[in-house]
Amino acid sequence: MKRYDAIVIGAGVGGLGAALLMASAGKRVALFEKRAWPGGRIGSSKRDGFTVDFGVHLISRGEKGPLIQLLDRCGVDHGIEFTKVRPIQSTGGENFKFPQDLKGRVPDKDFDAVIKMVTDVKGMSDEETHEFDSQTLEEFLDGYTTDPFVHACVSQIGFIYCCIPEYRLSAGEFARCLKWEAEAHASGYPSGGCIAILNAYMNGLEQYGVDTYFGTPVDKVVVEGGKAVGVLAGREEYRADMIVSNAGIQETVSDLVGAEHFDAAYVDYVKSLEISFVSIIARFALDTVISPEIKMLSGFSSVPVKEYNDKLMAGEVPEELNSFIVVPSSFDSSVAPEGKQLVMMTTAVPAGIKDEYCPAILEALIDLAETHFPGLREHALFVEKVFPSDAARIMGEDGAGIGIAQQAGQAGKDRPAIKTPVEGLYIVGAEAGGAGVGTELAANSAIEFFDTYVA
Ligand SMILES: Cc1cc2nc3c(=O)[nH]c(=O)nc-3n(C[C@H](O)[C@H](O)[C@H](O)COP(=O)(O)OP(=O)(O)OC[C@H]3O[C@@H](n4cnc5c(N)ncnc54)[C@H](O)[C@@H]3O)c2cc1C
Repeated sequence: MKRYDAIVIGAGVGGLGAALLMASAGKRVALFEKRAWPGGRIGSSKRDGFTVDFGVHLISRGEKGPLIQLLDRCGVDHGIEFTKVRPIQSTGGENFKFPQDLKGRVPDKDFDAVIKMVTDVKGMSDEETHEFDSQTLEEFLDGYTTDPFVHACVSQIGFIYCCIPEYRLSAGEFARCLKWEAEAHASGYPSGGCIAILNAYMNGLEQYGVDTYFGTPVDKVVVEGGKAVGVLAGREEYRADMIVSNAGIQETVSDLVGAEHFDAAYVDYVKSLEISFVSIIARFALDTVISPEIKMLSGFSSVPVKEYNDKLMAGEVPEELNSFIVVPSSFDSSVAPEGKQLVMMTTAVPAGIKDEYCPAILEALIDLAETHFPGLREHALFVEKVFPSDAARIMGEDGAGIGIAQQAGQAGKDRPAIKTPVEGLYIVGAEAGGAGVGTELAANSAIEFFDTYVA
C-alpha cells in the first residue's frame, strides 16, 4: 500500500493548486483524476489544429491574480502572458460601455446612483465587503436605484463573475469581484489559451515529484476512527495524513466518504447547498476569419432579470439572450491554424431546466452570434455543442458553471468551510473557502487551504 503525506482527489484548478503548494513545501503528494487529462472545467482539447477550451474564459485578474501568484509562489517558471481585455457589452444590437453609456439611457438620478454604487464598492476594504455577504446584489443595488435596465446591466456583470443572477448573487462577493478586478486592472486571456495555465501547473507537479494518476477515479475515501486515512482507487488503497478533495463537496460527503461518517446536521447542510446556473455552449471552428476585430462580447437582455429566467424555465426563448462570446484566436494565433478562426459562445440557464428546452436556446445563441459573425454556420469546419446534460456528465453538479454558487448565504464568511468535520478531510476548489471569479475562486481556495492547514 502506497503512503503519502497528502492525497488530492481531482485535477481542477483547486486540486492542482493544492497539490502544487503542498509538494513545493516538501510534502509527498499524490493526485488522482478520474479523467485522462487535467483541468476539470478549465480543460482544453486539440482538434484539427484548433486548441479548444472547454468553457469560455476570461481571467479576471490576469497575471496579478491568484492563478499566477500560486505558480510564482511555488517557483514554477511559466512564461504566461495575458492579452488584456474587457468584454464589450451590448444590448438591443448596440455596443454599450458600463457605466458611462448608461447616461442618457436611464434617468440622471439613476445614472448618478450607479456611479455612486461603483465608487462605494471600489472604496470598500475587503473586510467591509463581508458586511454584504448575506445580502443579494439585487437588494444592495435597490439601495441605490430600482431602475430595471440598470439592474439588468449590473446583473449581467455579476453573472459573468459568478454565473448567478442578481436576485441570488451575494452583494459581498460581487463587491470583491468588482473591486479586485478594478484594482488589478489586468483582466485578460492567457497566451496559448487556458491550456497554457494547465501545462504550467502540470510542469510544477512534475518539478516537485507529485505522483499523478490520470484516468483513475477515487471510489472511496477510507475513514478509520473518525479520521480520513486514505483512498481506494483502481482497486488499490493509498494512505495519507491529509485527504484533499476537489471532487465537489456534495459528491465527497455523500459518495466518496458516506453520510454515515458525518453528523446529520452537516449532511443536511451540504445537501442544502445550491449550485450556480448551468451553461449551454457552442464552439465554432471556422475555415476563415470573420470579423477579426471582435475579441470578447457580453450581450445582455433588457428584460427584467427574474422575468428573463422565468421565461427560460417555462420553455420560452427570450427575444435577446444574455450571452458571452469569446474569440480565442483573436488573442493568440496558436489556438487556430493560420487563416482560420475559433469562436466560442455561451449562455447560462437555471439548473434544472428541461433538456428539451435547450436546443432552441442554443440555436438562438448561434443566431445572435451570426449577427456579429455573418456566415458563421456556413464557414464551420466543425461545431461542438454542449448542453447542460453533457456538461453534467463531464463535470457533475448538473453541469454548473462554477459549482457551489456564490449566493447570499453561501459566499464570503458564509462559504462552506474547507475543513470538514471528518479529521484529515478537506475540500478545495470552487466549492469551499475562497472568493473571486471562477478559476480564481478555485485558486484562492487552494491558497487558503494551504495557508490555514498546511503551512
Ligand atoms: C462554460 C464555462 C465558462 C466559464 N468561464 C469562466 C471564465 O471566463 N473565467 C473564469 O475564471 N472561470 C470560468 N468558469 C468557471 C471555472 O472554470 C471554474 O470555477 C473552475 O475551473 C472550477 O475549478 P475547480 O477546481 O473547483 O473544479 P473542477 O474544474 O470541476 O475540477 C474538479 C476535478 O475533479 C475531478 N473529479 C471529480 N470526481 C473525482 C473522483 N471521484 N476521482 C478523481 N477525480 C475526480 C473532475 O474530473 C475534475 O477534473 C467557467 C466555467 C464554465 C463551465
